[in-house]
Amino acid sequence: MRTIANELKAQGLQVINFAAGELDVDTDELVKEGARKAIDGGHNIYTPTLGLPELRKQVAALVTRHAGVAYAHNEVGLTAGAKQALYNAAMVLIDPEDEVIIPAPYWVTFPTQVELAQGRPVFVDTRPHGYQLLASDVQRAITPRTRALILNTPNNPTGAVYGREELAKIAALAIEHDFWVIFDECYASLVRAGHRHKHILAIEPRLKERAVLVNSFSKSHALTGWRLGYVAAPAEVIKAMENLQGHTTSNPSSVAQYAVSHALAHDDGSFIAAINRALDERLRQALAIVADMPEVKVAPPQGAFYLFLDISAHLGRRLGDLVVADVDQFCELALREAQIALVSGAAFGDPSSVRVSYAIAPGDVVEGLHRLRRLLQRLR
Ligand code: PMP
Repeated sequence: MRTIANELKAQGLQVINFAAGELDVDTDELVKEGARKAIDGGHNIYTPTLGLPELRKQVAALVTRHAGVAYAHNEVGLTAGAKQALYNAAMVLIDPEDEVIIPAPYWVTFPTQVELAQGRPVFVDTRPHGYQLLASDVQRAITPRTRALILNTPNNPTGAVYGREELAKIAALAIEHDFWVIFDECYASLVRAGHRHKHILAIEPRLKERAVLVNSFSKSHALTGWRLGYVAAPAEVIKAMENLQGHTTSNPSSVAQYAVSHALAHDDGSFIAAINRALDERLRQALAIVADMPEVKVAPPQGAFYLFLDISAHLGRRLGDLVVADVDQFCELALREAQIALVSGAAFGDPSSVRVSYAIAPGDVVEGLHRLRRLLQRLR
C-alpha cells in the first residue's frame, strides 16, 4: 500500500493517509525541554535496565493513581514502547502450547507475540456486541491451558471502551481460573467526550497479583518515535522482565526517559486535553459523513482515534469490470481510485472492515471520507 501511495504521490496526486497509528501533533514542549536538558547535561549513557530510579518512582505513582491500587518502584519498569512491555510479558509468562485469549478485532501484534512465545492465540469475537467484550464469551474460551487474556481498552482498532460490569466479571474469571490479565491501556488518555476509561484494578483490586498493566507515552505525549512505555506487575514478574530485557535491548533510550520524567514532573494535563478536544470535533464531523455512506455499519468509537467501518455489504460488488472480492482489494481500490489510504480489517482479524484514523488534519478527514463515500456509491 505504501508503494502504491508513493507512486500516486509521485504522479502529483493528493493522497490522504488514514492509515497512521499516531497523533498528528508534535510532542509536548515539556518533553522537548527535558530532552534538551538531558543531552546538554551529559545524560547520554546507559541507565539501569528498567529505567531511572526517579522515573520508576514517578511511574509507580502514576500507576497507583490510575489503578487505585498501590504500586512500588520495583513493581514497574520502563520499556522501549508498550510493544516491548507486551513482548516481555509474552516471553516471561507464556510457555509452549499455553493458550492466550485475545478479543477480536485485535491489535495486530498481540497474536504474533503470543506465537513468538510458542503460545496459541484463542480469539473471542466482539463484533456481535458492538465490539464490547462479554465475560460470558471469555468464559466459553477458557480451558485448562488458558494462561492469559489480553485486554486492550480503549481499543485499537475499534475505539471501544470496555464497560465496568463486564470488566468486573472478567476479573472474577481470571481470579477463579487463575490466568493473567494483560491490560493494554495505551490509549487510556485518549477518550471521547462523555466516556471514561475504566481500569480493571480500580474495579477489582484483588486482581493485582494476576495483572500485567501495559501503558505508553507514545500516545499520551505524542512521542511514538522516542520509544518509551512501561509495565506494572508483581515484583517477581518485573524481575523476570528485567533479566530478559537486560539481554535483549537493555534500557530504553536515556534521553527519552529524562524527557518524560521532566514532563511528568510539570504536567498540568493541558497538552492531552487540547488533543482530546480536537479529536472530539473531528470525530463528530467524521460520523456525520459516515452516516451518509451507503450500507456502512459503524459502532461510534468511545476512545482512541480510529473509526472502524464495516463495509461487508460492498464486498463482492463491482466497479466496472473489477470485482471487489475482499477487503484487501477494497483498500487497494480506495487508494488507486480515491487516493485514500485505509488499513484493511483483515490485519486485525476482521475481513469485513476498514480502519480509518481521524487523527489527521480536519480538512483531510472531511475530504477523505467524502472520497470514500463517493467510491462506495459507485460500487454495483
Ligand atoms: N498497544 C496498542 C493497542 C497499540 O495500538 C500500540 C501502538 N499502535 C501499542 C500497543 C504499542 O505502542 P508503543 O510501542 O508505541 O508504545
